Amino acid sequence: MSFWANVQMGPADPIIGVNEAFKKDPAEKKYLLGVGAYRDDNGKPYVLSCVRKAEQKLLSENVDKEYLPITGLESFNNAAVKFAYGENSKPLAENRIAVAQSLSGTGSLRVGAAFLQRFLPKGTKVYVPKPTWGNHITIFKDAGMEVCEYRYFDPRTNGLDIAGLLEDLKAAPDGSVILLHGCAHNPTGVDPSKEQWNEILNLSIKKNFLPFLDVAYQGFASGNPVEDAYSLRLFAESGLQMMLAQSFAKNLGLYGERTGAISVICSSPEEKARVLSQLKIVIRSMYSSPPLNGARIADKVMNDPELLSLWYSELKAMSGRIIDMRKSLRDHLENDFNSKLKWNHITDQIGMFCFTGLKPEQVDRIRSEYHIYMTRNGRISVAGLNTKNVKYVAEAFHAVTK
Ligand code: PLP
Repeated sequence: MSFWANVQMGPADPIIGVNEAFKKDPAEKKYLLGVGAYRDDNGKPYVLSCVRKAEQKLLSENVDKEYLPITGLESFNNAAVKFAYGENSKPLAENRIAVAQSLSGTGSLRVGAAFLQRFLPKGTKVYVPKPTWGNHITIFKDAGMEVCEYRYFDPRTNGLDIAGLLEDLKAAPDGSVILLHGCAHNPTGVDPSKEQWNEILNLSIKKNFLPFLDVAYQGFASGNPVEDAYSLRLFAESGLQMMLAQSFAKNLGLYGERTGAISVICSSPEEKARVLSQLKIVIRSMYSSPPLNGARIADKVMNDPELLSLWYSELKAMSGRIIDMRKSLRDHLENDFNSKLKWNHITDQIGMFCFTGLKPEQVDRIRSEYHIYMTRNGRISVAGLNTKNVKYVAEAFHAVTK
């Protein structure tokens, strides 16, 4: 009798399923629009030049491989919070931000969730947008938190359902945690406007919410890290306590290096010290200390003026290519194929992903007839488009929607 006889086969991740089906397809002309990673105009992974240069510097410095402290590389942490909250951040100047390097965005969320589970009153709910990045729900549930959803996406407009969002959050218990995508919402690409962020902030103050911002695309969405930090800085400067999970996977292309940070805004330096001591206890039993290499690279880039300005120009180039592909996809649909449908949402949405509005049956047809692969919710990774395939993808979209 096996110890594992009662272990059921777990369901496959929907994105992995799309990748597998793509690999098995023998067609020569086939495109994968599922992966959440940047691709260049030749469809190839891209390592940023600022990262390569930082790596060369590290190599020439002959650095060791010793353990990092539990909270990671201090100079990386300082640079990461400055990048997120801004040089002139009030809570930063007041020494009220507890920060720990963690395992990219996912690990930062998981550490944050474990901390909340330990220290918020039992039964506190976490509200996530509907839909959200699938892992949010499992991360908070695995940490023992109860997860609820608030309305977010309106399929009639392919835009934000701000009335539904505010109504659902008004009905949430005071003191709840609300998870917000700071910019470039995944999977919809739909972000609140500045006015709408103000409304969400005012409601958060009124309801004494704890905002937990997930910022996985700072600088990658608009090309401007300050612009993409609008919501985050609005909340941070408001005087509210909040949390932030930061990822350098997309904006520095450090995907597999697992580089990120969890930060917690506290009400005083003394409270910060207590919070940090407990974050350390959470981290110690989960993975002891974070990975070294990615943090060293990010640290070099952010603390070297030459590499920093190279990074900023590369952020502009990556986000610019994505914005161009959005324009091109819409243009082909409206002007080459004379689609009668509205496609403005393709260019209204921002970031790596676009919620096309295609129905599951249309996604299935595109897969079998055109060998274009995406998740059945109609989400595409715009990074998978390039000057060679965008017209073909538009043709496929038109064929199944006309
Ligand atoms: N949060 C959101 C909204 C994301 O889209 C992602 C990645 O796709 C992440 C967090 C975390 O990614 P990582 O753990 O690779 O930093």
